[in-house]
Amino acid sequence: MCVFCKIVAGEIPSNVLYEDENIIVIPDINPEAPVHLLLIPKLHLDNIMEISPELAGNIFSKIREIAKKFNIEENGFRIVINTGKDGGQTVEHLHIHLLAGRELLWPAG
Ligand code: 5GP
Ligand code: ZN
Repeated sequence: MCVFCKIVAGEIPSNVLYEDENIIVIPDINPEAPVHLLLIPKLHLDNIMEISPELAGNIFSKIREIAKKFNIEENGFRIVINTGKDGGQTVEHLHIHLLAGRELLWPAG
């Protein structure tokens, strides 16, 4: 089982900040911003190339609710989906980074 599947299953304890039928939200272990959350689908998918339109729509439709919950909707935030080697993906279980709490640099390095 991959590390995020273990977190989803509760085999690795983590601070679950939000949970519904499809996703959990946890703080990133190595935060790059004052708010750095990971939205992790409960279903193991290697990356965004495997997502169904239904799950994609479901997850994206929750971002507004999550942004409000963490009080970042006013100042803004960034969502990032690293994919594959050149995309800098290090955990091969699809996850969405949600970064906020400071002005983020752009373009990404
Ligand atoms: P990626 O580089 O694949 O886009 O992002 C993986 C992210 O997962 C990294 O930001 C890393 O800090 C985070 N991460 C890796 N292992 C764990 C873990 O066991 N717990 C948590 N909360 N985050 C993790
Ligand atoms: Zn997994």
